[in-house]
Amino acid sequence: MKDLYRLMPEEMEKMVVDIGQQRYRADQILYPLYYKFPKDISELRQLPSAIRDKLVLEGFMIGSATEIHRVVSDDGDTTKLLLNLVDGTPVETVLIQYPSTKINGHPRSTICVSTQVGCAMGCVFCATGQMGFMRNLKAEEIIAQVIHFADLLAKRNQHITNLVFMGMGEPLANYDETIRAVRLLTHQRGFGIGQRNITISTIGIISGIDRLADEDLQIGLAISLHAPNDKLRQKLVPTAKPNSVNDLIAAGKRYFMKTGRRVTFEYALIEGVNDSLEIARELALLLKGNGSHVNLIPINPTAGNFQRPNRKNVIEFEKILYNAGVNCTVRVEKGSEISAACGQLRTDIIG
Ligand code: SF4
Repeated sequence: MKDLYRLMPEEMEKMVVDIGQQRYRADQILYPLYYKFPKDISELRQLPSAIRDKLVLEGFMIGSATEIHRVVSDDGDTTKLLLNLVDGTPVETVLIQYPSTKINGHPRSTICVSTQVGCAMGCVFCATGQMGFMRNLKAEEIIAQVIHFADLLAKRNQHITNLVFMGMGEPLANYDETIRAVRLLTHQRGFGIGQRNITISTIGIISGIDRLADEDLQIGLAISLHAPNDKLRQKLVPTAKPNSVNDLIAAGKRYFMKTGRRVTFEYALIEGVNDSLEIARELALLLKGNGSHVNLIPINPTAGNFQRPNRKNVIEFEKILYNAGVNCTVRVEKGSEISAACGQLRTDIIG
């Protein structure tokens, strides 16, 4: 079966012409796909039934996700869904809302999408990493997660304002499908979200960062650093060996020079592992003057034995970076009690 969500607008036009229809029919498919969220071709009511029948005959379908399980945080701002994709593959996707931040009168609503089932990068503090790698998601499967939440929000008269590729998996290890999804989601005849409202997070696949810089996209990049030196980083991210910390900083600089988009370095703070004040000073020295931004993320409870540092430590760590002139924020974690926060997604322990 061929999923209509896979097709770029130009490919949709070619497809309708190929099945003997006029080019303008493409928009009669695209508009409902991205604004009405049909689950089946029979719901594409702008199309004459003969064309709908023809699409089915040609093997097309609409690949929507099915909700299997929903968990909502106590404050109602975070919703984690276990979704089944068309072939029954389970995947986790999270909605994080910030009711006090309004965008055009609507609460900021960020969807954290998964790009793989499991992950091969094996970060020792990450629940997804501990699952191992199962498979890459296709572009249409990434889009299905977004559309599911777009439909859910539309019913509340709200909409998605931001997308982060920070769910299960390493997006740049599934490069082509991730970029195809980004292009469909940002296309004016597709989902139409602004490129600047999208962030891709990577553990540091340098060839992928350089490719992304050449895509002529205005999306944000977050590089997960987690340590200021190679020895410590390789302990936390065992697959990081081929790339040194300095290589990553240089790749971030190249991305900034090409795109003009400031790069964020993500730093998961783990008690007794990478949160000492000495390490903070080393990090400050490394990042001082390079214009990037550091996002400190006090680690969330996961299956491992890692602990979140106490608040005082986090503040001290931040202060050292700040005093060295390094732009820095501490991420306000939402949803950790429902295992929906960074590093907590895995499909077998939902709930
Ligand atoms: S932190 Fe990201 S890259 Fe590392 S194992 Fe988890 S999902 Fe993969």
